[in-house]
Amino acid sequence: MRWRGMDGHFSDFLVIGGGMAGLACASELSRNGAAVTVLDKGRGPGGRMAARRIELAGVTVSFDHGAQYFTARDPAFRAAVAGWEAAGVAARWPAAGPDAWVGVPGMNAPLRAMAQALDVRWGVRAERLVRNGALWRVDAGKACFTAAQVLVAVPAEQAAMLLAEPAPELAALAAGVASAPCWAVMAVFAAPLVLADTFRSETGPVSWAARNSAKPGRAGAEAWVIHASPQRSRALLDCPKERVAETLLADFFAATGAAPVAPAHLDAHRWLYALPAALAGEGARHDAARGIGLAGDWLHSPRVEGAWLSGRALAGLVL
Ligand SMILES: Cc1cc2nc3c(=O)[nH]c(=O)nc-3n(C[C@H](O)[C@H](O)[C@H](O)COP(=O)(O)OP(=O)(O)OC[C@H]3O[C@@H](n4cnc5c(N)ncnc54)[C@H](O)[C@@H]3O)c2cc1C
Repeated sequence: MRWRGMDGHFSDFLVIGGGMAGLACASELSRNGAAVTVLDKGRGPGGRMAARRIELAGVTVSFDHGAQYFTARDPAFRAAVAGWEAAGVAARWPAAGPDAWVGVPGMNAPLRAMAQALDVRWGVRAERLVRNGALWRVDAGKACFTAAQVLVAVPAEQAAMLLAEPAPELAALAAGVASAPCWAVMAVFAAPLVLADTFRSETGPVSWAARNSAKPGRAGAEAWVIHASPQRSRALLDCPKERVAETLLADFFAATGAAPVAPAHLDAHRWLYALPAALAGEGARHDAARGIGLAGDWLHSPRVEGAWLSGRALAGLVL
């Protein structure tokens, strides 16, 4: 295969979505000599592995409000994680299990490290994909990008919307996947809560809670992240975030048995497409004739590792 160099906004591959799937795919293509540009609508690395920082009384407090930790079972992914560990951007977090890893100092750290070696355009939302002769044109606000191939690595619902016109068969595949929402609450307390570092429940309104400040590489204030169950998240889907935060904090105290205290900081974030009902076995999809591909956790398994494996699988199909 002959790769052409980048010229302005032309690249061999445009990857839409710089989450774990998109960056894993782009890294592999780039390692094989391709000119790759990644577009992501977010302000910086994260996707659903996002980290947020706030200033509270002159102290920086961080939260991982999306993915909480990841496991590494596939040998290729384990090798990638070992590389992140050696680079100081991932560490084990035994509180979540013997096989649990987190990004350091935030969950997005491995993504930041991957993005640094790539041409990633943050804050660029792909709005329209147009097949233009043998090339693809991607319209993104005032900018316009052209590439021989376009690889879409966004949640299924967003892929279905983006691809409805230019690739209806791929849009139909994505439209068959429904994702569960998740409300995430971020709370800071003046004093440590008398609780273990993690809490999980299969049945209650709070599915997960963790002392974020106890993860490796975090320090400072007593910061907690609380995730509502899919059912509770659906019930509160369109409520104002202030009300959701108060409601889920009360759920958290009731579920854990911790004595209720007023938080020094309280906020909530709604993940509309948090966890997909995965399409087993597909891995990734590539239409070589039309130069278009799909990756994402929803094509593999609804986890960080699944997203990475899907991105790698798409790069393998392309190469
Ligand atoms: C609340 C929550 C808890 C979770 N907990 C865990 C966990 O504990 N362990 C675990 O392994 N996994 C967990 N997950 C799942 C894990 O985060 C995902 O499986 C994984 O991060 C998905 O990666 P991805 O690249 O497929 O998608 P994403 O991370 O969603 O990346 C897609 C990217 O595409 C960008 N994008 C979307 N549309 C456009 C567009 N039109 N133009 C440009 N960019 C666009 C987005 O900004 C985003 O950065 C959790 C997820 C959530 C939300």
